[in-house]
Amino acid sequence: MTNVILFGPPGSGKGTQAKKLATNYHLLHISTGDLFRAEIGSKTDLGLEAMSYISKGLLVPDAITIGMLRKKVEENHDVNGVIFDGFPRNVLQAEALDELLAERDQRIAALIALEVDDQEIINRILDRAKTSGRVDDADEEIIRNRIQVYKGETAPVFDFYSEDGRSYKVHGVGSIDEIYNRLRNLVDTLI
Ligand code: ADP
Repeated sequence: MTNVILFGPPGSGKGTQAKKLATNYHLLHISTGDLFRAEIGSKTDLGLEAMSYISKGLLVPDAITIGMLRKKVEENHDVNGVIFDGFPRNVLQAEALDELLAERDQRIAALIALEVDDQEIINRILDRAKTSGRVDDADEEIIRNRIQVYKGETAPVFDFYSEDGRSYKVHGVGSIDEIYNRLRNLVDTLI
């Protein structure tokens, strides 16, 4: 069982890299952003509620997010491990994740943070907006809000896992394959 958190600011390439890593290492990829977008697409109550936060660049409340994540993990007990993408996004979520895994005698092997500077992030997200159709990608103010939320609420999750040496940093600028190879070199040492 190898459970990894792929971490980093919005637009740092977590989704792209998580998909490639999940395929290569036969891990389940769980993206809370993708789960929310699926709920929004199906116009469920959860999706409608989540949209009211996502469209402003705010975090969806923990009770909703943790409940949705727990359900996804419980539906998939027969896996080699999980790549968590976009979760945990604050310390309370990290504590909930550790508890959920501990119930299964599991733990997070590593948190891997993709490092990308603010201007690169804004450029990437505005570029992605041309094709993603995401309302939270289209407006620079909302993007800046997401970056602020990351710095204030999410960044402490890095320190949470670095206390016992489980947090790692990877340079997140370069080609998709260059970054992927940096990640693989690290994940190979964990598996
Ligand atoms: P990005 O990494 O580019 O911000 P995501 O798809 O991971 O994109 O997330 C999109 C939005 O979904 C976030 O800005 C937030 O509003 C919501 N979201 C995703 N994951 C979480 C989470 N763990 N807790 C709260 N809100 C979340």
